[in-house]
Amino acid sequence: MSLPEIKLVFDDPVQRKKVPKHLADYSPEERRDVAKALGFPAFRATQVSTHYFAHLSDDPQTWSDIPAQMRQSIADQLTPKLIELVRSVSCDAGTTRKDLWKLHDGVLVESVLMRYTDRVTVCISSQAGCGMNCPFCATGQAGLTRNLSAGEITEQIVAAARACANGELPGGPIRLSNIVFMGMGEPLANYNAVMRSVRNITDPNPDGLGISARSVTVSTVGLVNGIEKLTEEGIAVTLAVSLHTPDDELRDTLVPINSRWNIKEVLAAADGYEKRTGRRYSIEYALIRDINDQSWRSDLLGRLLKNRNAHVNLIPLNPTPGSKWTASRREDEAEFVRILESYGVPVTVRDTRGREIDGACGQLAAAEKTRID
Ligand code: SF4
Repeated sequence: MSLPEIKLVFDDPVQRKKVPKHLADYSPEERRDVAKALGFPAFRATQVSTHYFAHLSDDPQTWSDIPAQMRQSIADQLTPKLIELVRSVSCDAGTTRKDLWKLHDGVLVESVLMRYTDRVTVCISSQAGCGMNCPFCATGQAGLTRNLSAGEITEQIVAAARACANGELPGGPIRLSNIVFMGMGEPLANYNAVMRSVRNITDPNPDGLGISARSVTVSTVGLVNGIEKLTEEGIAVTLAVSLHTPDDELRDTLVPINSRWNIKEVLAAADGYEKRTGRRYSIEYALIRDINDQSWRSDLLGRLLKNRNAHVNLIPLNPTPGSKWTASRREDEAEFVRILESYGVPVTVRDTRGREIDGACGQLAAAEKTRID
């Protein structure tokens, strides 16, 4: 299995050249400069931001504070349509909806919207494909196609916020409350675009969506250089580390990047994040039958985490079609939880939304690609 070269992407000239630029690619200050460079007064950038982030409007004809003859042109230049819906599939009585998006170059990515009693969460993609090569993951099998731009990531989030506001999910209109970077891709391998997107989420209206950083989860397979960089940002998002096993021997296989940064180094970086931000981090653990669900592994994980400010999220594996990896037996899952709790480690078993709709990351895109091919 070949290991990807891991560098944080701060500037991606290839992708930057190809993807149309969008207001969401820039900081609020830069947006004003961009408007001026396009020949508009700087304040037009603020007006368009208000329509985009505060009103969630994608119809420039309703932007009544902008002269009618200018609306389409300014929308085309500042908020070009970067994602086009290919199809949506729903399950769980409509409260889980998976959207498949086509990007301007035909690349497919997915987002999943989940309505719970008290919140709506969207799980978004940060890359098309993924270079991390985790063998149990549909996305990992296809490799990395390219990084998404901040605009492409933000468009998924704004589309979700719009769907919530329009009452597209059963239960009527609601505000999008949580964003998790757990769709396709390794967020910290596309660092700058992800951070711009995080700021687009957390900046108050009209510069962003005004959603609390506490409601944003950035996941990583353990890119220590990315966690350290995130620690310096001073923005207290929830950090989720996909550990999947407490021993390096198995983790080298399950999460190949482990041979670059081992468990000890990853947990030390997560502890550093927790110390700086005061935010408990989460340990993501996909329970895979007879692979990582033995009680001795739960015991080892309990010992590793008992004095850390971490919470374990157990994820019953959503099997990839044709894969040998499958979910743990109920009794093994229960025993795994019991042992962790005996160490005082907080643990939850994640509700596996979307099983009927290829809910695990990458599965809908893989199915669609097969259909197209
Ligand atoms: S599990 Fe996550 S990091 Fe690993 S290959 Fe899949 S998308 Fe990438």
